[in-house]
Amino acid sequence: MLNYTKKITNVIETEVLVLGGGPAGFASAVAAARNGAKTLLIEKTGVLGGTATSGLVGPFMCCYDNDGEEQLVKGIFDELCCRAEALGGAIHPSKVPAMSSFSGYHKISHHNVTPYLSETIAVVMDEMLPASGADLLFDTQLIDIIAENGTIKYAVIANKEFISAVKADVYIDCSGDADAAYLAGAETWLGAKETGTMQPMTLMFEIDNIDRDEFYGELDRHKEELGNNFTNCFWWYIEKARAAGEWNIDRNEICTFETSTPGRLKINTTRICGADGTKACDITKAYIDGRRQAFAIFNFMKKYLPGCKDIRFLQFASRIGVRETRHIVGKYELSTHDILHRTRFADAVATFGYAIDLHTNNSSGIFTAVDKYYSIPYRSMLPAGCDNLLVAGRPICGSSEAAASYRVMPCCMAMGQAAGTAAALSLQQKVQVGDIDVPQLQALLKNQGAIIKDA
Ligand SMILES: Cc1cc2nc3c(=O)[nH]c(=O)nc-3n(C[C@H](O)[C@H](O)[C@H](O)COP(=O)(O)OP(=O)(O)OC[C@H]3O[C@@H](n4cnc5c(N)ncnc54)[C@H](O)[C@@H]3O)c2cc1C
Repeated sequence: MLNYTKKITNVIETEVLVLGGGPAGFASAVAAARNGAKTLLIEKTGVLGGTATSGLVGPFMCCYDNDGEEQLVKGIFDELCCRAEALGGAIHPSKVPAMSSFSGYHKISHHNVTPYLSETIAVVMDEMLPASGADLLFDTQLIDIIAENGTIKYAVIANKEFISAVKADVYIDCSGDADAAYLAGAETWLGAKETGTMQPMTLMFEIDNIDRDEFYGELDRHKEELGNNFTNCFWWYIEKARAAGEWNIDRNEICTFETSTPGRLKINTTRICGADGTKACDITKAYIDGRRQAFAIFNFMKKYLPGCKDIRFLQFASRIGVRETRHIVGKYELSTHDILHRTRFADAVATFGYAIDLHTNNSSGIFTAVDKYYSIPYRSMLPAGCDNLLVAGRPICGSSEAAASYRVMPCCMAMGQAAGTAAALSLQQKVQVGDIDVPQLQALLKNQGAIIKDA
């Protein structure tokens, strides 16, 4: 135990402080600033986009209803997609069918995805964030929260200027891990409530130079089997490699997503089981194991898969992909039943239709389709016991299974837009975020492109 006391001389003042610049944080900051709040976003890496950029993850998963009839996430998300497409670094989801190279030949919930280049997403976010009026600090990490009686007074941050504090009226936790809520003393839990199990991590990597005719020709020949049974791509080669002692990864598929550049693929196949994304040692081991697995998968692809003889390794993700850590105890816990059976919420602020996509710690995953779409209630973004904090993105209050649907990026952006708009509204109405006029929030969101159904 060590007591450490120091005066913080640099105190930055703002109205809204967004902690973390992933999909949720980016949309939160843009929405808060566009709705008139003085906004600062801090991000611990040097790039906006979080898992979409530093994590090399893609595509943006389905933003339509489960029947592929209606686009359910628009607003800031759609603007980002259109801008990235105009730069040649994305394909708008309206143009992307299921069972294609862009969706990894998956069927359920894999229609209308948005393929992109992570670099283009980063550049578009670099333009959109300052244009909204929000301020930004990169390489800046939240390291502590000073709270009194359930109200956050300061966020303590660290960067090249060492330790500073930020004083804001409203804080939006978009760290992915509910870091701010946890540091503020709000109650959280890890993974599945009953077991503490968290979904496995994945270190993404990219390759290019596949022979598309050979590679996709092989998958086309298996299309019926892949589409009807949700069979794993290329399991038939993995079996062979396993028998030859050349495959020792806890996964039975080579999961590839073609980007908007033909022949350039994002590979979502490494699997690090049993690691806790809130533990520094586990994260460190996951990077090392993730990079080892990535090279093993690359070599397997070169040796076994059609069209891969001349593939090139492009890059590892610079940030490990963490699917699940903390969930906040909020004012409403979104249940698996709510997701699957479309519970109506008077305080709905986002609508989504992606399946429950549960990566398990021993096989390739379990997919459960939702009934067309479902809603995210505002109360699930409000941590119990902290009155000037909102949480957006994967740690909102919901069951581990429910999170396996809403954690994907279009929904995180829709939640971010709702959180940022709610923060600005709370300032205008001079009330805490839990006391805003929700119908007014919904009207503002709809005016700004969001889709809210059944509220
Ligand atoms: C391997 C993997 C594959 C996935 N595949 C897909 C997919 O194909 N399509 C899809 O739509 N979704 C996919 N997802 C889900 C999705 O990418 C994430 O759940 C989503 O990005 C979460 O968004 P977020 O904004 O909540 O968090 P994140 O994207 O994790 O962003 C959090 C940001 O906060 C920053 N941060 C964290 N802590 C701090 C701190 N203390 N101080 C300052 N900054 C901090 C981080 O650097 C990061 O930029 C995948 C996830 C993983 C891990």
